[in-house]
Amino acid sequence: MKAHIVVLPGDGIGPEVTNAAQQVLDKVSSQFGHDFQMDEHLMGGVSIDQYGVALTDETLADCLDADAVLLGAVGGLKWDDPNAKVRPEQGLLTLRKEMGLFANLRPVSTHPKLQESSPLKNDRLKDVDILVVRELTGGIYYGEPSCRSIDQDGKMRAVDSMVYWDYEVKRIVQLACNLARDRQCKVTSVDKANILESSRLWRQIASDVANDHPLISFNHLLVDAAAMHLITKPSNFDVLVTSNMFGDILTDEASVLTGSMGNLPSASVGDSGPGLYEPIHGSAPDIAGKGIANPIGMILSAALLLRHSLQLEQEAICIETAVSLALDDGCRTIDLQEENALSTQQMTKAIISRLEKNIT
Ligand code: NAD
Repeated sequence: MKAHIVVLPGDGIGPEVTNAAQQVLDKVSSQFGHDFQMDEHLMGGVSIDQYGVALTDETLADCLDADAVLLGAVGGLKWDDPNAKVRPEQGLLTLRKEMGLFANLRPVSTHPKLQESSPLKNDRLKDVDILVVRELTGGIYYGEPSCRSIDQDGKMRAVDSMVYWDYEVKRIVQLACNLARDRQCKVTSVDKANILESSRLWRQIASDVANDHPLISFNHLLVDAAAMHLITKPSNFDVLVTSNMFGDILTDEASVLTGSMGNLPSASVGDSGPGLYEPIHGSAPDIAGKGIANPIGMILSAALLLRHSLQLEQEAICIETAVSLALDDGCRTIDLQEENALSTQQMTKAIISRLEKNIT
């Protein structure tokens, strides 16, 4: 298969983990006889430094024209001035909106050999297999007005708006129900309907969608209770569908179940067109440039790219199996284990060598 993949390494550890995923994709393409054309562009802080904007029109056009986009992470202290007019995250938000990526799929499952890397008790980590379906192009990250003002006495005020349209809720909950059909047929919709009007609309529409899916066991949960249940009884969840901000926060929390934030991949998809694949973590400025970042979330994102955008299921499974085998054999980066930790490159090599064995 011939495929055009746009690669946006971004900032901080973004280029380090993206390079790891590219090595894995190169190996897959040579082993399976594919031709992946990978074009790199600047995005985020590095793009601001070079072009004055976080995402140029040319980069956006190339992404829209591609079969899939692979993204590292954006942001960092250098661009963190709260008064800055141009910010790295603007590139990400524009990309998601312009590509129509309304759904962010975040699989969270625990590896039996990584239980010691999680601060939670082992018995809570058994049989955890959750798919978080996060709404990605609505809610408080996009709502207007979003502004600051200062009154005559010098008192400052800031406003963000959590806005949801009925069709935005309908399509994401529908997708969650469809995905649940191939899993345990359980969907939990998470909101804050006791307080927020936007959540009350969310709950109303979600209930309507659930009525059209009688085979799905559907329930509603307030976000505060969901935060607790995620660490007290995580194996009770199957598909969890929620809004943009709640999904962002809950998946960082859920990553603790797996031992590290560095382990989790994500796929952002829309109705049609290219998908965007990125780990859930940020640019980790505290470890950037040290060559110690965990590449697993990024490598598993490449597997999701093969599965969802290129329909290469067998190749995706080969990558996932190679990651699992490396963990079985005790390969760990420093976020998972301090002693005898592997560098990013050593971990990548460990995964690639198991990929080769797996295929031949
Ligand atoms: P972060 O995810 O970058 O890091 C949180 C902690 O997890 C840090 O201690 C970091 O070292 C560790 N960590 C993250 N990924 C890791 C990996 N692959 N291997 C080992 N350790 C890892 O979150 P943050 O520190 O809150 O944010 C840093 C910057 O990233 C900010 O500028 C933020 O805006 C940005 N950010 C970007 C994205 C994105 O690009 N999608 C997402 C979240 C945060």
